[in-house]
Amino acid sequence: MAAISMRNIVKRYGDGYQAVDNVSLDIADGEFVILVGPSGCGKSTLLRMIVGLEDITSGDMMIGEKRVNKLAPRDRNLAMVFQNYALYPHLTVFENIAFPLRLRSTPDDEVREQVNKAAALLQLTEHLDRRPANLSGGQRQRVAMGRAIVRQADAFLFDEPLSNLDAKLRGQMRTEIARMQKRLGITTVYVTHDQTEAMTLGDRIAVLRKGVMQQVGSARQLYEEP
Ligand code: ADP
Ligand code: ADP
Repeated sequence: MAAISMRNIVKRYGDGYQAVDNVSLDIADGEFVILVGPSGCGKSTLLRMIVGLEDITSGDMMIGEKRVNKLAPRDRNLAMVFQNYALYPHLTVFENIAFPLRLRSTPDDEVREQVNKAAALLQLTEHLDRRPANLSGGQRQRVAMGRAIVRQADAFLFDEPLSNLDAKLRGQMRTEIARMQKRLGITTVYVTHDQTEAMTLGDRIAVLRKGVMQQVGSARQLYEEP
């Protein structure tokens, strides 16, 4: 059974523009899939339909065995990491990561355990008392990932998470995201327009062009073989 399954997904916006054209894709449990393609090809639209932030015009979106076409984001148990981080400026790193647990009224000692575990994985242990304004871009990105981790979601969804970082940091964060994904074994969908990211991250690459899924395969299959 696929963790995320898309069947003939179409998205037509209110103005009639068809951003996603009959896309079908099965993502296996624990798999890391990269959605790549030029700006405007429909990557974010597809990702937002997985999370539930955008209605599906036609087709079926399945998470596990559940058809989620009409399900609100809060009922899907997915964790999205945005490129602008969406951190709370008045909260410490600890409380930013803890936020989803606080919403569920998780007991304090469990919050501490979960946050410390995520912080260790993301090398944030020394920064837990700081506020987002005093962190580097890479550190903020890690806090956003920490918050996704403690949610214990069924899948991670990344929308161009590294595009605000400089080249060196991007490389570093790529390695970290790959390592974290393997350690957690969590199903991951990652949107990027960056070919290098597509080739170095993930198990499979899905290439979108003008809303059409053109190719799906490993980096080797797509970029190295004649
Ligand atoms: P990508 O993430 O690949 O850059 P998007 O999914 O953001 O592409 O957008 C795909 C296409 O849909 C673009 O041509 C964009 O202009 C169009 N689009 C995105 N959002 C809307 C909207 N709310 N209304 C109409 N068209 C939109
Ligand atoms: P509310 O609508 O109750 O004010 P939010 O808009 O912050 O709260 O979130 C509503 C629900 O959407 C949350 O309970 C959560 O399940 C889901 N949600 C919030 N942020 C994310 C995210 N980054 N990724 C996936 N789901 C999210």
